[in-house]
Amino acid sequence: MAERALIVGGGVSGLSTAYFLGRLGISSVLFEKSDRLGGLIKTDVIEECQLEAGPDSYIAAKPVLTELARDLDGLDRQIIGSNDEARRIFIVRGGKLVPMPQGMVMMVPGAWGPAFRSDLFSVSTKLRFLAEVFSSPLTRDEDITVGRLVREHFGDEVLEYLAEPLLSGVYGGDAATLSARSVLARFVAYEQKCGSLIRGVREERRQTPRQGGLFRSFAGGMQSLTDALIRAIRQNTQVVHREIAGIERTTNGWRANAAGEWFESANLVLACPAHAAGRLLGDAAADVAAELAGIPYSSAILVTLVYDRATLGHPLNGFGFLVPCRERQTVAAATWISTKFPSRIPQRFAALRAFIVGNQALRLLDASDAALLDLVRADFRRLMGIHSIPRFSTLYRWPQSMPQYVVGHMQRQQRLAAALRNCTGLHLVGNAYDGVGVPDCVRLAKDTASSILLQSKLETH
Ligand SMILES: Cc1cc2nc3c(=O)[nH]c(=O)nc-3n(C[C@H](O)[C@H](O)[C@H](O)COP(=O)(O)OP(=O)(O)OC[C@H]3O[C@@H](n4cnc5c(N)ncnc54)[C@H](O)[C@@H]3O)c2cc1C
Repeated sequence: MAERALIVGGGVSGLSTAYFLGRLGISSVLFEKSDRLGGLIKTDVIEECQLEAGPDSYIAAKPVLTELARDLDGLDRQIIGSNDEARRIFIVRGGKLVPMPQGMVMMVPGAWGPAFRSDLFSVSTKLRFLAEVFSSPLTRDEDITVGRLVREHFGDEVLEYLAEPLLSGVYGGDAATLSARSVLARFVAYEQKCGSLIRGVREERRQTPRQGGLFRSFAGGMQSLTDALIRAIRQNTQVVHREIAGIERTTNGWRANAAGEWFESANLVLACPAHAAGRLLGDAAADVAAELAGIPYSSAILVTLVYDRATLGHPLNGFGFLVPCRERQTVAAATWISTKFPSRIPQRFAALRAFIVGNQALRLLDASDAALLDLVRADFRRLMGIHSIPRFSTLYRWPQSMPQYVVGHMQRQQRLAAALRNCTGLHLVGNAYDGVGVPDCVRLAKDTASSILLQSKLETH
């Protein structure tokens, strides 16, 4: 292998970049500051329960991950789907769990009957759904917040009781700042094409009916993916467990400082969070660094509680619940793992995972484990009537882990792309740019590996 790229970050983004580069005949040196690879992806196995520290699944509609799994020694044979027969999500309203109507596509009713029968919406919201169908096509010159898009189409109740909790659950974000163009691109397209989001959703359903489950994961947990990548890159990748502390430009490319030792290459891939990448670049690429520093992040705390099922006193008849801001004490969302992925938890146990995000996470990052457990248990008692004591638990704090695609994110992306054109050989991979999920990271890694190959071919000819 002639080339050798430098990769900073050993999460799924860095590992898959190393993997795709290896397949193209380019070797890598991958730097990871912690003593384990995988980043946010980690699966603990305790008393035969598979408990995820970070992502628990990926969206089936994004095929790149399934394709990668196929190439990773038959990992695709371990793909499991979520138990969609039991798929029901509850929203907390007036302190009670109210089922989200069937057929909703995020905050858009895809079926009339369930939306009209639902206790989640007032009569005036239901009338608003009817009127929304007559909206005229609209092209907006500017990006707007998700909050404004949803309020203009459906009003405050849908914003508060659907959009806001859904976005907190997925992005750890705030509808008042998130960008409609980046986060709800398909709804912005419906608005432009048909005016009505309801008609847009229905039209799309007619053209492409959904097949199979909504979420996928791996029989051995999400870590099966990063473990398989680690095995696959061994041949082409030197893994160095050191923190990169500085980056400089050289005449032929880039060099990175790992504990005083400099490593050089024509290609440097920053697969660490944007805030970390920005700090590293500093003066070496000041324009890029300034854009990266402008991408805000929020923090998350994940607490998983495992109970003896017999003591739970709740049927776990769905995938979990979301808590709108005005109803929230600590937990923003909870996943009922035993129902969403039954094969992960032995029948004798019930496992529930709580997300603490946004301001609550910021406030509680330094709280003790015991205090956090008490707060989560208090919410489960209040909302689900669970009084029993968990048999065991896991707890992970993920500070500054969830990038926020705020209004103007797309323009920032364009400015970043322009700034990168003056930095040949510098590449950014991760969830801060073009999609926040694991499949998005893998797709960007694949594209980056291809462009490194293309660039090296251009230079040799
Ligand atoms: C709580 C939570 C739940 C999520 N759930 C889902 C889900 O269900 N489905 C889904 O698709 N996505 C989910 N996501 C998003 C998903 O986890 C991420 O998109 C993805 O894991 C990001 O991977 P990454 O490799 O880009 O970053 P990371 O996993 O953060 O890895 C970056 C790595 O870079 C290392 N690093 C940083 N700085 C340096 C340095 N200077 N030198 C060397 N190493 C460095 C870090 O130690 C880290 O290991 C979730 C995210 C969070 C926070």
